[in-house]
Amino acid sequence: MATAIISLLMPATSQAKNNKIKALIVSGQNNHNWQVSHKAIKMILENSGLFECDITLTAPARGDMSKFTPDFSAYDVVVLDYNGDRWPKQTDDAFLKYVQNGGGLVIYHAADNAFAQWEEFQRIIALGGWEGRNEKSGPYYYLVDGKPFLDNSPGPGGSHGWQREYPMNCRNSKHPITKGLPDGWRHAQDEMYDRMRGPANIKDLLYSGTTDPKTGGSGREEPLVFTVDYGKARIFHLMLGHAGPTLEKNPAMQCVGFQTLLLRGSEWAATGKVKQAVPKDFPTAEKCSLRLDYKAPAK
Ligand code: ZN
Repeated sequence: MATAIISLLMPATSQAKNNKIKALIVSGQNNHNWQVSHKAIKMILENSGLFECDITLTAPARGDMSKFTPDFSAYDVVVLDYNGDRWPKQTDDAFLKYVQNGGGLVIYHAADNAFAQWEEFQRIIALGGWEGRNEKSGPYYYLVDGKPFLDNSPGPGGSHGWQREYPMNCRNSKHPITKGLPDGWRHAQDEMYDRMRGPANIKDLLYSGTTDPKTGGSGREEPLVFTVDYGKARIFHLMLGHAGPTLEKNPAMQCVGFQTLLLRGSEWAATGKVKQAVPKDFPTAEKCSLRLDYKAPAK
């Protein structure tokens, strides 16, 4: 009897136990350096003190994927750092159920290259690139005079110019993820995805970037950070963060702006709110700011 009472009083989840948001980072295959990126994501999230992360890695490319069956429903937010082979059907189904039941999801960088043949996944990411995407995938989405423009012209989906530092343009300063952040700030050296295509069911466009044909870009004002309109789900799509060769040489992810968006977007995806203060070392319009060790500054 005493045992029964104790178990009734025990918190049901570990979130209740330590008040942290439970995050699952999915990685294991990518055309990028996922060995660096998934570790950087875990450090950024956990060093904030707000998240407790598990990592789940798939089988390697062309490996036996049948044992990749994570329990998405045990988490407040799932962070996709994955671009590789299809998952088993039961995992696809569990993922869709998690998202469609109002789950929190973060699409990070090349996760929007993944699963070009999985139709429902395109609606979850809203825009994707590469892997054979073209006009059949949906329109190009970019801004003309600050307003969204859908362009159905034929052509491949997904490209980027040379890596460089670039200004981030805030397109919605009222969203919980962006509220309080400066309207413009300088992102550290990174790729800027452009010419992405898809169903384009963007809910709130948060940041755009101006590409430059002189550095190989589309020449358009491109969406870079947004939320996705997908039923009850809270989906945060963050195109930034091309991983470097090592954790030490990884400016796109060492950027305080990137880290802040990952943290605020993950909290919003998990809870619908953002309680984090704007960090004091946030980049300005003129100057990038890096946290080389991925540690949030002491409060
Ligand atoms: Zn990249």
